[in-house]
Amino acid sequence: MKIPFNKPFLTGNEAEYIRQAVYSGKLSGNGVYTRKCQKFFEDRYGFRKALMTTSCTDALEMAAILCDIKPGDEVIAPSYTFVSSVLAFVRQGARIVFCDSCKDNPDIDPDKIEALITPKTKVIVPVHYAGVACDMDRIMDIAARHNLLVVEDAAQAIDSYYKGRALGSIGHLGCFSFHETKNIIAGEGGLLTINDPRFIRRSEIIWEKGTNRSEFFRGEVNKYGWVDTGSSFLPSELISAFLWAQIENLDMIQTRRKELWLRYHAGLQELADKGCLTLPVIPDYATNNAHIFYVVCRSLKERTALIRHLKDNDILSVFHYLSLHKSAFYTTHPDFRPDNCRDVETVAVTNFDGTVTDEVQIVGLDLPECDRYADCLLRLPMYYELTDQECDQVIDCIRDFFIG
Ligand SMILES: *Cc1c(COP(=O)(O)O)cnc(C)c1O
Repeated sequence: MKIPFNKPFLTGNEAEYIRQAVYSGKLSGNGVYTRKCQKFFEDRYGFRKALMTTSCTDALEMAAILCDIKPGDEVIAPSYTFVSSVLAFVRQGARIVFCDSCKDNPDIDPDKIEALITPKTKVIVPVHYAGVACDMDRIMDIAARHNLLVVEDAAQAIDSYYKGRALGSIGHLGCFSFHETKNIIAGEGGLLTINDPRFIRRSEIIWEKGTNRSEFFRGEVNKYGWVDTGSSFLPSELISAFLWAQIENLDMIQTRRKELWLRYHAGLQELADKGCLTLPVIPDYATNNAHIFYVVCRSLKERTALIRHLKDNDILSVFHYLSLHKSAFYTTHPDFRPDNCRDVETVAVTNFDGTVTDEVQIVGLDLPECDRYADCLLRLPMYYELTDQECDQVIDCIRDFFIG
């Protein structure tokens, strides 16, 4: 039997809740299920306000609008992340200033942020990679001292904490994803969290196509109209109905994922002790929501061989995130880069198989930890229905690769 990399888990009630939403007669957004989901997240995680969105990408777009990003403003983000973390700001005309990852995990390195701040900097975007918290006290302190906003990309970070505080509740704004690859899912879906009360009124308006319709529905105004920019960021009731079935099973899903994560970690410890690979590190200030289980290989060549070995044994593993600072878009769009990242050069890169290819790079922009994760990090199968036997099969296959 093949072991896939991911398998979306259905709790069993999704279709029933969607049926109820369909026959309730209220199909559009901001109905019963939307509000149930939002209230759940606010109560459980202490978000000042939560708004369901059609994706995390859309939540990030709302955040970029709320931060009032204008062309030329600078946004500091890690380069080892998904495109959406920065795309939302690029659409508002921001210049993206990429920061390197930490040595012992892929999160943004707080020691390297301050040197990137200029008078044009407006926002820092910490991405909680694998649901493991960035060092938020350090980041919030830097932001406060330089009068910057913090937008947490918590796409992977549902039910994860930093020093007892839920991720997504610490920055001025936070963004979650319920894409089918995440811990709890709605197919496509997301959540914007608003922790700074200054943004609450405007967030509802942007969410509702630039109108004050939410105030009208609450009876606070007697007519509503066009008052601001915005879009149709709110999902239909069907999405929230699906998500509600997942929310009801959140603890069960999290418990199982953490068991699997620990099983992988224990099973691969010997290889880590031998120096064959590096296991993920959860800092003392962070909890583990078991979104991803990854290993870091010693080289791109070894990772490529390991992926092949696993595939030959019917196990699908994946790498992700090519460094964004070397992407086709960033290297060809100087308007979205800061002033000190103007020049590009073509560099001959020797691949692991000995071939040489030309790569366009930005002169002086060297993010070695990011590049190392891009080359060497490998994600192993991780989903609710993965059995202990399958998990052991993956572990044995990796042991077989390194020590036969
Ligand atoms: C999944 C993910 C996103 C995008 O989420 P969507 O809901 O698919 O828009 C953004 N950032 C990170 C770090 C992600 O992992």
